[in-house]
Amino acid sequence: KLAHLPYRKTLEEFDFSFQPSIDERMIRELATMTFVGRQENVILLGPPGVGKSHLAVALGVEAIRQGLSVYFVSLTQMMSDLRKAYEENRLDRRMRVYLRPKLLIVDEVGYMPLDAVAANLFFHIVSARYERGSLVITSNKSFGEWGELLGDRVLATAVLDRLLHHAHILNIRGNSYRLKDRLQLANKD
Ligand code: ADP
Repeated sequence: KLAHLPYRKTLEEFDFSFQPSIDERMIRELATMTFVGRQENVILLGPPGVGKSHLAVALGVEAIRQGLSVYFVSLTQMMSDLRKAYEENRLDRRMRVYLRPKLLIVDEVGYMPLDAVAANLFFHIVSARYERGSLVITSNKSFGEWGELLGDRVLATAVLDRLLHHAHILNIRGNSYRLKDRLQLANKD
């Protein structure tokens, strides 16, 4: 599987008119991949179904088109993978999978709270990539909720400090695309 993308979705397939809170120009600018050259991050925030993962995958597709190394993973997958590596005494070697790519996409941050081990591993990845490689992160949680998510407010502050220092933040507000047809039917009444 190419860069572990879960599926192939592109910006051409994204209907910007459905989600007016998204600044299309900003997405087009990000798609030039200048942010990767500058080791900047992209944070896509919003409720379920607004297109965060679609946009993250589309940026991944674009990065691959431009010959950049990309790795896509959900936070849950990454944590269970690293935990297993830790138990098998090969954490350092496995960590390289997440540190080496120019662009690491971590999807679905926030659906599962992290225990202390996972929270520290996540901090390690964010610190090690800070000013060295780009992260694209999708989350349904606002930054204020990251303390709860990581189970440690001090750690969450340290993570966010590094993550947000050079970051493009997209706050998506709107309806779930998954419920589009149902909403259209409802509006006809
Ligand atoms: P999120 O990550 O925000 O929960 P997804 O990106 O998984 O949402 O989107 C859910 C589904 O809806 C996916 O199949 C995605 O391709 C589609 N989708 C979401 N927003 C749009 C949009 N504006 N245009 C086209 N497809 C969309």
